[in-house]
Amino acid sequence: MTHLLENAPRTSVDPNRGFLCLWTYWRPNPDAPNPDLPGIKQQTLTYLTIHPNTHCLCGSRLPFRRCCQSRPYWQAICFTPDAEQEQYRLVAPQTLIFEAVPGTLLRQRLTDDSRFKPVEAAPARAFWIYWGDPAFDGQFGTLCFGDVELQDDQRLIVTAMSAQRMALLLYVLYDCSGSLLTIPQITNDRLHVIDKQTGERITIDQTPAANPARWSQGKRRK
Ligand SMILES: [Zn+2]
Repeated sequence: MTHLLENAPRTSVDPNRGFLCLWTYWRPNPDAPNPDLPGIKQQTLTYLTIHPNTHCLCGSRLPFRRCCQSRPYWQAICFTPDAEQEQYRLVAPQTLIFEAVPGTLLRQRLTDDSRFKPVEAAPARAFWIYWGDPAFDGQFGTLCFGDVELQDDQRLIVTAMSAQRMALLLYVLYDCSGSLLTIPQITNDRLHVIDKQTGERITIDQTPAANPARWSQGKRRK
């Protein structure tokens, strides 16, 4: 899986003043026979500058000057709706795979749940975008917080750009259809960071993912 970090600004800005922030939007495609299926999905990067003494946007709660300001590379951040304290977290993409799910039932449940936006509904593959509850409309469309894909009516693949987004998405997924889900396999996807000086894109492996068993408890973090 590749994530868009290729369009990093060739800086006229001071690279130590802020963060790259990754946004994913969905919007209807007015030129398509069905504007909603699949619609258009777009990722953009913005540069958020912050004061050195304010909380770092990585979620550490340390002042920026004592945390990520001096890092030699950017690890993008992403907005998380419904966060208790910090609304931005470092991008650290995750994938969960649920095998041997009852696909027909699951497909129906997901399609009936307005928190999931169906963007593909082929016999062998169905795809939904988690929009948040309520959805956030932005400059380029509706913000997307994670993806759910059903393959061959037996394999459910859930992806999110950070652990916090994944927790939020799984809360909704278990709320919608927890009784139909098996224990998932979780993987941390490879991560792309950008060297602040050269603009070079570097791919790194993330540390092992947390134990997925805790997701299945379906508890909200409040
Ligand atoms: Zn930080």
